[in-house]
Parts: sequence; structure tokens; C-alpha cells
Amino acid sequence: MTADTRTQLPPPKLPPLRDVIAAHGLQASKALGQNFLLDEQLLDRIAAIPGSLRDQPAFEVGPGPGGLTRAVLRAGAKLVAVERDQRCLPALAELSDAFPGQLRVLSGDAMQVDARAEAGDGAHIIANLPYNVGTALLIGWLSAEWTPLPWWSTLTLMFQMEVAERIVAKPGGDHYGRLAVLSQWRSDARIAMKVHRSAFTPPPKVMSAVVHITPKPAPEGVQLKHLERLTAAAFGQRRKMLRQSLKGLPGALEALEAIGIDPQRRAETVSVGEFVEVARIMGKS
Ligand code: SAM
Repeated sequence: MTADTRTQLPPPKLPPLRDVIAAHGLQASKALGQNFLLDEQLLDRIAAIPGSLRDQPAFEVGPGPGGLTRAVLRAGAKLVAVERDQRCLPALAELSDAFPGQLRVLSGDAMQVDARAEAGDGAHIIANLPYNVGTALLIGWLSAEWTPLPWWSTLTLMFQMEVAERIVAKPGGDHYGRLAVLSQWRSDARIAMKVHRSAFTPPPKVMSAVVHITPKPAPEGVQLKHLERLTAAAFGQRRKMLRQSLKGLPGALEALEAIGIDPQRRAETVSVGEFVEVARIMGKS
């Protein structure tokens, strides 16, 4: 027996999530983007995506009735979860009692919470995100300081399929744009699991997917602000040639020429690596 297995207790027996929802009157609110996951096997599979969470710090946005929260706690994480819907707090307090010392629940808006200060460096961020703030939260995490990695360890995030496709997109397709470049220039991003709409209560109109993002050391000499300006200009007019879309951005056309990118190309054909090179040269000028 290893030291690890010796100290592990069997997971506590919990009531079915449907009963939790009924007991606490948690009818789903559309305004809060509430589509709950109730299948515990599916939830355990999502919680396994980041790898072992045992004794790892973790951060969850929108625990709701606590389905994914349970799975992350069963996996052994030390979790901080922020929930905007106060109706969910009593159910989450029960979960906190069932996993002593593992769960701290914050009542509030994830957009206003300092996740790093609350969850600590090295936290795994894992969430079935509310669709209305999901992309903004992702961009916030991707924009963190990278020294040489960000404060968080991994992102395991459920999005609507269309957003997931935009995050992992490769050049050449309609999905490829700013979000792909910002997600991939210093991270690996992949779709780890597709989730059918029928897995949610209530089912949303579209399919969903869990995206797994692992950070890499940032390319040297490239600043996020240059990449942001470059991709905003390039994809702001994505059907136009770079010669046209980048002409208002100081240093951009010179940078294209310096690395031999044809200005007649369109943004959707430019690889993440090429955008990084252009941004690096723009930063030097
Ligand atoms: N984690 C639960 C699950 O997987 O079944 C619920 C996921 S549901 C898609 C999104 C959750 O985020 C809801 O519980 C909702 O109340 C919460 N939420 C919505 N906006 C929020 C915000 N700005 N800050 C924190 N939580 C929010």
C-alpha cells in the first residue's frame, strides 16, 4: 500500500443530484446560464481530464447544485468555487461538510473575483462555464502574466461547441480567428470531450465540448499587447488582404516584409507561429 492510498478515505455517500435540486428548489435560470450536469460518471470523466487532482489546488466557476464540484472533490482537490446564484449556497454548504477541509465556496460574480488570490498558484481551473461570461473569463486567464508560465496549471472548461471550435481552430477555416491565436500562442489547446446536449438539465440548444488547455513557456521577446493589436486588426477585416487590414497598425507591414509573409494573404491563412513572429518584430520597432 502506498502512502497515498493509506490516507485516502472512500468518497462520502451523497444524495442524487436530482434530489439536491428538488430539495433546494434549484429550477434552472436561463439568465444565469444554468444547464446542469447530473450524470456522475460523466462528471468523474471530466474531473479526470486535468490528470491527478489529489491535494492539488483547484478553482471552479459556477458550481450550481455541485455536480462537477463533487467529482473534483472525489478526485481529491482542494477546491475554491465561486457561485453567483445564492439559492445554490445551502446545497454547496452540505457538500463542504461532506468533504471536510476540501471546499471553500465564495458567493459572488466570477468576473469580480481574484481567482489567483483565492485559489493560489498552481490551481487547476475546471468549470462548466455559464455561456454569457465563459469567453471573457477564458481571455482573462489567457492574459495572465506568464513568468515563464501562468499562475494556473491547466484549464478544463466546458463551452458551447462553436466556442470550443474557435479556441482549438487551425488556420484555413472559418473558426480560426483571434481566440485561436490567443489560446494557442503559449498553450496547447484541445477538445478533450464532446458532450451531447441531452446530458444537460435543461438541454441547451447546441452541443458542448470540454476544452483542455495546458500552458507552455511563452515565446521570448513577444508581448501580448502586440499580438492583441495585430490579431484585432487582421481579423477585424478577415476577408481583406493583410496589406489592407494592417495598414493602420504602425510597423505591421514592415514586419510582414521582414519575415517574408505575402501581404496579399488573408488573416485566416496566417499561422499562430507567423502571428507571433510579426508581433515580435513589431515589438522591436
Ligand atoms: N457546475 C454546474 C454543473 O456543471 O452542473 C452548473 C453549471 S451551469 C452551466 C453555470 C453555473 O454558473 C450556474 O450555477 C450559474 O448560476 C453560475 N454562474 C452564472 N454566472 C456566474 C458568474 N458571473 N459568476 C459565478 N457563477 C456564475
